[in-house]
Amino acid sequence: MSDCLFCRIAAGDIPADVVARTDNVVAFRDIEPKAPVHVLVVPIAHVANVTEAAAQIPDVLAEMVAVAQRVADAEADGEFRLIFNTGPTAGQSVFHAHAHVLGGAELKWENA
Ligand code: AMP
Repeated sequence: MSDCLFCRIAAGDIPADVVARTDNVVAFRDIEPKAPVHVLVVPIAHVANVTEAAAQIPDVLAEMVAVAQRVADAEADGEFRLIFNTGPTAGQSVFHAHAHVLGGAELKWENA
């Protein structure tokens, strides 16, 4: 989708600090980090949220979790929090599914 921010980042049309990439998934640093490690893992295919990802591209959703683990292995001793904000009330502001990978410090619930 040409008007979708994360589609454009996944396509390389908008620069991002990419830390991992597979054929199906790209991971890049959040521009407003909420923890020492704050990486977004997104499917290259456009789906609006994690529920659509689970229904439409479940293998890619599993790959997103595997990539999150790889990022945490490289940057946060393998431990991380994984958040999928789903809907505006829950804090979702970009309507292309993405996992927030948070780590690198002892996380309080306020970090979520
Ligand atoms: P959410 O609010 O759960 O939809 O998460 C969207 C996230 O995308 C926020 O944490 C933003 O800081 C982040 N974000 C927005 N624009 C960019 C960008 N151009 N590059 C990296 N992260 C971004």
